[in-house]
Amino acid sequence: MPLRTMHLDPEMTVGQLQKTHSISSVGQLLPYGNIKHTGLPEGIEELEQTPVEFNAGKLDYADEQKIYTTQPMCFDEQGRLVGAPDSERTECFISGYLKRKIASTPNIGARIPRPSSTMYRISESLGKGLGMFATKDIPAGELILAERPLMIVPITATTTRDGDIPKHLTLHQMQQVLLQDTEVVYKVLIDRLEPDRKKAFYELANSHLHNGSGPILGRIRTNGFGFNEMRDLAPGMCGGYSIVCDELSRLNHSCSPNTFHRWDMPSFTVQLRAARHIKKDEEITTTYIDLTTIAANRQKQLAPYQIVCNCTSCANHSVSDPRRLACINWEKQNAGYVFGHFDPESKPALGPLMAAYKTYVAEGLEATSGFGQVLEMLMGSCAKHGDVPNTKLFAKKFGVWKLSQNGSAGNSKELERLLMALAKWMSIMKTQQKLKLR
Ligand SMILES: [Zn+2]
Repeated sequence: MPLRTMHLDPEMTVGQLQKTHSISSVGQLLPYGNIKHTGLPEGIEELEQTPVEFNAGKLDYADEQKIYTTQPMCFDEQGRLVGAPDSERTECFISGYLKRKIASTPNIGARIPRPSSTMYRISESLGKGLGMFATKDIPAGELILAERPLMIVPITATTTRDGDIPKHLTLHQMQQVLLQDTEVVYKVLIDRLEPDRKKAFYELANSHLHNGSGPILGRIRTNGFGFNEMRDLAPGMCGGYSIVCDELSRLNHSCSPNTFHRWDMPSFTVQLRAARHIKKDEEITTTYIDLTTIAANRQKQLAPYQIVCNCTSCANHSVSDPRRLACINWEKQNAGYVFGHFDPESKPALGPLMAAYKTYVAEGLEATSGFGQVLEMLMGSCAKHGDVPNTKLFAKKFGVWKLSQNGSAGNSKELERLLMALAKWMSIMKTQQKLKLR
């Protein structure tokens, strides 16, 4: 039976959904909170799922066909496929398109990078269940953990039921059918996990206990990460994927997170790096939401996770909100900026840039692209103003930011050298001009 994943037409309203009764329109409207009637509506039979054969080497699937597959593929020195790795395997339910994309990644199946030493412990976090805590001081940019996910599944609900859902069902009942079907489809995947990884999956938190999500989908909805590199982008496809890890699932939310995480395709891992200096015993955090908005909006975004955030910024929102708004305004004013494009003509005033820098730091927004932009503009402007010490300071900070966001500092060292030369030259010019004026 062909497997497919539901996509939601973003233009479609709930009213239209109820009219069309198309399964393909309901999948992304997953309910949360306390739902009164859950489970399959009367008269709807449970979905039967036949496990699908796995062949690591097979790549000639249709773009949109969904398959069960163990990843990453590994190749020997002659480039021959040797199958999935011996351990730390990821069970995936992905499209033919994505499987081909993974297979064509240079150096796929690369060794998992390990931090220089153990950086964290998992222990109780007050009022939040388990959390991740630093076991030592961790400098900004440092790799904290690289983890191969337990599983990767579509972000939407999934069914193998053919055709439309019976017309007499309400939208709510259609959602419940999809939730139940998704559970059946993903159970096949869970049963393919190695025993210790299966155990780890069932030990994850589940904040979707009362909306009809089963124990598998509930855990996926609670713990999944999404990454742009893992999307179906073939023509006519728009699906994202949910990537579920074990240890990384213990990262709690903060509106001032101290880490960046990114997807690394060759090693097939999620990598976590410090976005600023993290002190020993401090909780290591990430964000589940968009951070450049005021506290009330953040609370709305956190509602599906059943989180009422009481971080410093949320608790002191009268102080924090004006600062967040200042960051939003700064980003709006500098929206045309292109990363890595050094404009020799522009020489922004240092005052507003320094003010923006201080506001981002005060709000703990180092793990945002806005902060990277502030640093990049600051180092360039300091150099053009002939401010040698600050050019060095912000060029170094930008290199570390890039490393933590990107996994690589790129050409930052070379850039720092050039900017320092420019800063020194501008400084000499300024001194000469002053002498002339005397
Ligand atoms: Zn908060």
